[in-house]
Parts: sequence; C-alpha cells; structure tokens
Amino acid sequence: MIGNELPALSIADLQLLLRRREISPREVINVLRERIEAVDGNLGAYVSLDVEAALKEAERANVDLALGGVPIAIKDIINVMGEPCTCASKILNGYRAPYDATVIQKLRAAGALPFGKTNLDEFAMGSSTENSALKSTRNPWDLSRVPGGSSGGSAAAVAADEAFGALGSDTGGSVRQPAALCGVVGLKPTYGRVSRFGLVAFASSLDQIGPVTKSVRDAALILNAIAGHDPQDSTSLNEPVPDYVAGLGNSLRGIRLGVPKEYLIEGIDPQVRAAIDAAVKQLNSLGAEMVEISLPSTEYAVAVYYIIATAEASANLARFDGVRYGYRAENPRDVLDLYGRTREEGFGPEVKRRIILGTYVLSSGYYDAYYLRAQKVCQLIRRDFTSAFEKVDALISPTSPVAAFKLRERVADPLQMYLADVFTIAANLAGICGISVPCGFAALDGHRLPIGLQLLGKPLDEARILQIAHAYEQSTDWHKARPAIASSLPKQ
Ligand code: GLN
Repeated sequence: MIGNELPALSIADLQLLLRRREISPREVINVLRERIEAVDGNLGAYVSLDVEAALKEAERANVDLALGGVPIAIKDIINVMGEPCTCASKILNGYRAPYDATVIQKLRAAGALPFGKTNLDEFAMGSSTENSALKSTRNPWDLSRVPGGSSGGSAAAVAADEAFGALGSDTGGSVRQPAALCGVVGLKPTYGRVSRFGLVAFASSLDQIGPVTKSVRDAALILNAIAGHDPQDSTSLNEPVPDYVAGLGNSLRGIRLGVPKEYLIEGIDPQVRAAIDAAVKQLNSLGAEMVEISLPSTEYAVAVYYIIATAEASANLARFDGVRYGYRAENPRDVLDLYGRTREEGFGPEVKRRIILGTYVLSSGYYDAYYLRAQKVCQLIRRDFTSAFEKVDALISPTSPVAAFKLRERVADPLQMYLADVFTIAANLAGICGISVPCGFAALDGHRLPIGLQLLGKPLDEARILQIAHAYEQSTDWHKARPAIASSLPKQ
C-alpha cells in the first residue's frame, strides 16, 4: 500500500490491513502525519497535533480490538488528557485537559488512537468554523468556501483524507451540517446515547457527541465504541447498546420514510432540491415507501433554539472567569475587573452576543415571556415528531438548504448564518437521532460542492437510520468521490 492511497481508506478498510499485519499502527500515524503536513497548511483543519503521544500509544495498540490502531481526530471541545482543549477560544489559552472525556476513554478501550484536535467555531457556536479565534478552516472541495460548522475541522479533515474518522459535537446541527458541506457522513446520536462527560458544555440539554466518517459503516463502528451509559453523566441513558454494524445489510423493504412537507420550503437551492428528489426516488427503488407527513411546529425551531441554546450557554460559560481556567487579564484592579476584562478580552463577538442574549431571556420579567414559552414550543416540536414516528420509521430531508457558501459571505449577517441549520435544529430540540450522508453535488463557480441527505430517526433508533443510510450509500457512488485539493489558496 503506497503512502498516498492509505489516508483515503475508510476505517473498515484500514482495519483489514492492520489486522493482516500489513501495516503497523505506528506506520499509520506516520503516513497520516505526512498527509497532514502536505495539505493542512491550506485547509487548517487541525489546531494541534501530538505526534509523539500518538506514536507512543500506537506502540501498545492492540489491532484486534474493535478500533484497534485506528487514529481518530477529536474536535477541540472534547477533553483529551494532557492535550490542549481550546474550544477555539482565546479564553482557554494555555489550558490542558487534566482528564479524558468518557468518549475518549471508550475510544481508547476499543483500541483507537485519539490523534489531533480539530478546529471549530468558538465553543461550537456557529455554522462555518469562521468563529474560531485560532484560524479559519477551508472546504477541501473549494478553498474559497467554508467547511460548515461548528465541527468544520473534523469534517474537513475526514473529507481531505487527513483523518480516517473524527468526533464532533452537535447542538443544533454541528456534526451533520459540516459533514454535508464536506461530503462525508455525520451522525448525531439520540440525546443521552453518548456521554457528554468531558465535552465542554455549550447547551447541555441539546449537546451530543457524534462521529464524522467516510462511510456509514465507519459511523456505526465508532458509535459502537462510544455509546452507552456513563455514571459521570446523569443525562446519559441506561439502555442497552445494540451492535450498530450488525443490522447494516438489512433490506429496506417495508420501511416507511416520511417526507415532511415543511422541509421543502423556499430558499432551498434548486440543485440541493434536485439531489434530494433523486435520493427519494433512489430510496423508493430500494424498497422504501414514501409518505408525506407534516411537522407543523418546525417553523419555530430556529427561534426556539436561539432562546434555549443561548440561555444554557450563558449559564455554562459563567465558569470562564480568569480564575479557574486558561486566559487571565493582566494587572486587574480588583476581582470584578479581573472577571470583566478576562471575559471581554477572552471571548469573541459571537460568544458575547449569545451570552448577552441568553442572560436577557433568563432575566426576571422576561423569563416567562421567552424562556418558558420557548420550552413550551419545544414540547410542540417533540409532539410533532412523536406523531410522525407513529406513521413512519424515519424522516428524510436535505441536511442544509445550500451547499458550502463562500468564506465571509455570511459573517456580517448572524441571522443568515443561523438559518444554515433550519433542517438540523429540530432534531436537537426533540432529542432524536439524525444522520447526514452524501447524496450529490452542486456545480458552483466551476467547483463540485457536496450535498447531504438527512435522515432523522426515533429516539434510540440509530440502528434504523444507519441501516437506511448504508443501503442508500451502497447503491450510489457519491461517497467514493474525493476532492482534488488545490495546491495554492485562492486570491480573496
Ligand atoms: N449552528 C448552530 C449554532 O450556531 C449549531 C451549532 C452546534 O450544533 N454546535 O448554535
């Protein structure tokens, strides 16, 4: 196997080589490092890379374990012991994680090698990775465009063969949307399926860690390793973990798929719409039955999300005060000055905007009008899904209304940016699971830009959406396309 081809392998294919002892985990790390050195200067997917630590771990890796010897890139909002965990924020400058998040412990127990921390929007707030205080990440399919966000570093790394698989976190779409924009698979598990212990909290009632991979099978492999109850996270579900790989080959005969009429709204790019229509036909030809359904409260999802998510964020981010972690303002006059200036200097504009909004909606006099009402609407959204799932096994929609947009195109207009997640946000509010799988390309300015198909499933029904996504993927060639990464950056 020549060095050039190896990084393009899926996890499942890499494992075949590792298990046949045709390559060692150390060699894998070295080949990956070379690939990262060759392309990441232009892409900016990684924010830190500890080659020494990975090589040391590779030495001991047991390749016969479920993910034995497989390097996995980690969004830099998940704690990996001894490594920086910046959350792409200046405020965590200098912080190193004193412990492993539960997902990292579980990956290690399955033999995987956490390798490299990936870029994100500061504290996972954003849809383009442009809110990172550290650097910008570019879309491997067109370097003048965003990779999506907030897990844009993870998605770009996997798409550009700089990682075999990665972890991201999804609060309103941050795994699925960048996966769609980069042409890879992104899975958001059911709320509570995967422990959040060691994931820096953004909106605790919505956050969920999920895999970003080159294939649906790889997503199932990672989910097998990271799912399950964790006594350290009281919201993690104490439910048995099925083997998510086992059911992948099952036929789609008898499966009922709901096409929500509210999801085919204006504002969808015609090329995205055409790709989704074609995917619906394809799934139909594989034996799935299509049913039109309605999710009437969907139109409120984005508004409700920005009340609940900002409210929770304002509380979660109170801990960054210059005393406990990372950055501290210099020469404070007194303790208030220390808190105030640390936060003023340490947080970026989007994070401040959300803290202000979140504090406002929780303040006395406004709590009932905004926060409480948002919680009630959230119940309506949940109810919509519950009744839809009485009629169908899963729902189908675009992941994002548009393909990757240009860098800086939406930065000046936060509302426009917020709309990037219209199709993904409701799943977090309802706590259900969702997956994005490549379903075509849009042609824009001479570039091919990936389009993602979203499948939403019932709570704890990851096996079902993985099965459907796998059947679809295997009947198409979209996932086989790789970006030809330009060797120089476009002029801005
Ligand atoms: N784009 C959404 C936001 O900015 C979702 C982010 C996420 O899922 N972490 O909040």
